[in-house]
Amino acid sequence: MKGRILVIEDNEQNLYLVKFILENNGYEVCEARDGREGIEMAEKIKPDLILLDIQLPVMDGYAVARTLRTKPDLAKVPIVAVTSYAMAGDREKAIAAGCNGYIEKPINPDIFMQQVEQQLCLRADGGEGK
Ligand code: MN
Repeated sequence: MKGRILVIEDNEQNLYLVKFILENNGYEVCEARDGREGIEMAEKIKPDLILLDIQLPVMDGYAVARTLRTKPDLAKVPIVAVTSYAMAGDREKAIAAGCNGYIEKPINPDIFMQQVEQQLCLRADGGEGK
């Protein structure tokens, strides 16, 4: 097991694809299907990284990221926003909410793992996130 990744995603197809890729690469995957469940799960399992959909039921991804950043024991967990909002300013909005990185949907299976591991490495190198 290389690490534990929490995937917060309400779309079954995306969740399936992401989980498939991560598990095939040796990661343990936990899943949550809405924002509140995602926060509860993060507190419970203390993941090494969180992949966060932005368009979510109950609480959107920005609200989830802001909430996670208020919790001392989760403050340094890398959060990667995963979204199809291709609107200008969206990346900045995700970073402002506390996300460390940003992956655009649709997920590209050829580069997805590289995008995720880049965020894990930034943390392993002693980076403070950001
Ligand atoms: Mn969604």
